[in-house]
Amino acid sequence: MTARVLVVDDVPTNVKLLEARLNADYFEVLTAESGPEALDICARAQCDIVLLDVMMPGMDGFEVCRRLKSNPLTHHIPVIMVTALSDIADRVRGLEAGADDFLTKPVEDIALLTRVRSLVRLKMALDELRIRAVSTRDIGIADPLAEAAIESGLGGRVLMVDDRGAAAERIAAALSHEQTVETEPDARRALFRAADGNFDLVMVSLGLDGVDGLRLCSQLRSLDRTRHVPLLLVVEAEDNDRLLRGLDLGVNDYLVRPIDRQELLARVRTQVRKRRYASRLRDNVQHSLELAISDALTGLHNRHYLGSHLGAVIEQAAARGKPVSLLLIDIDHFKSVNDTWGHDAGDDVLREFALRLKRCIRGIDLACRYGGEEFVVVMPETDLGAAEAVAERIRRQIAADPFAIHKGTRHLDVTISIGLASRMGPSDGAEAILKRADEALYRAKRGGRNRVEANAA
Ligand code: GH3
Ligand code: MG
Ligand code: MG
Repeated sequence: MTARVLVVDDVPTNVKLLEARLNADYFEVLTAESGPEALDICARAQCDIVLLDVMMPGMDGFEVCRRLKSNPLTHHIPVIMVTALSDIADRVRGLEAGADDFLTKPVEDIALLTRVRSLVRLKMALDELRIRAVSTRDIGIADPLAEAAIESGLGGRVLMVDDRGAAAERIAAALSHEQTVETEPDARRALFRAADGNFDLVMVSLGLDGVDGLRLCSQLRSLDRTRHVPLLLVVEAEDNDRLLRGLDLGVNDYLVRPIDRQELLARVRTQVRKRRYASRLRDNVQHSLELAISDALTGLHNRHYLGSHLGAVIEQAAARGKPVSLLLIDIDHFKSVNDTWGHDAGDDVLREFALRLKRCIRGIDLACRYGGEEFVVVMPETDLGAAEAVAERIRRQIAADPFAIHKGTRHLDVTISIGLASRMGPSDGAEAILKRADEALYRAKRGGRNRVEANAA
């Protein structure tokens, strides 16, 4: 997929110049000659990144950037400000407005393409998560996008990797009012600390003695636990080549020594903010995946999940020559709980039952709500005899203590009946095992309820 770059500049020659270079590198280019026009294009989700001129009549680039970044719909689009002068004050204003990066006119080809490529890559990685987050928002779970647009970027945890004590201390001191900073002079230890520490940002000096800071960056990018942590390089002005390689490795941002304090603060805030945005999206997707496979009332897995996983569990048991057993549990006379005490009391019983059930089984067992007051427990590596002992334990746990209903003001005796079956032979499948468990359950009901029946046939 080719990325679409929006070039915004009030001077047509500047637009043409950037357009030609980007076209030569196979980017698709859209253009706008004013701030409002740019906002309109972004709001219609038509571009992947914006190259934004600062000085424009009417609405200037800072204002355009601020508006893009405070709108949940456009917040995620990376913005590179194109400034006429490399004035520090301008940069800081741009960062405060939420800009992701800067280029100074006249724009150098390599810097342009590297920056655009690396920001586009990051955006695309997050886009899929963002789209899923939008669909969960539509079903009313949460709104991570709106939360992201108001995130401050303060109070983050920063790991500073630098072996020049005094310089590292200066950076740490400058940041200390806004972030919590730890410093680490040793690159190898830094890798371990980053993997364990749940940092919001790792800053790496490229001037480490006898160690290549880029190697550390590449290791951080390849480890599962640090893959998503933002990286910020601290470089000398003459380090340009290595800086570009760093950006290609997936470094997110950089600072050139001597470091301006305001720029340091603003860039770190930006990275902390982005980190939180991305992890919110990831948490949100994780959460919605969990919702899709679990039952809302009891928190157990749902029938849909059982359907897709029971087959896999049985196949694995077959491949390894291990037994697998299955319990079908049904609450006795549950209809009368509802009829006598109300539907809410019934719900309380179902929730409490699920809690007790989970306490009786192992982590590898799979507990599902199969229907209204029917539950299935799948027990890998468990033969019929062992499963029967577990079933008996569950039955006793339920019958032993009455269930609290009506906010604990009343207690009910509840019992369950359990039918169980195990996988028998090579051609025995999920459906057949469930059917045998169901037959056993029927016998348990007919035999007087509050009992366990195994189907050994
Ligand atoms: P048996 O001992 O033969 O299993 O009798 P029973 O009354 O438990 O069985 P039946 O299948 O007749 O009734 C099940 C009841 O479970 C009927 C239904 O209203 C109730 N039920 C199903 N889902 C829920 C739920 O989510 N909440 C509540 N409160 N009740 C539910
Ligand atoms: Mg029942
Ligand atoms: Mg029933």
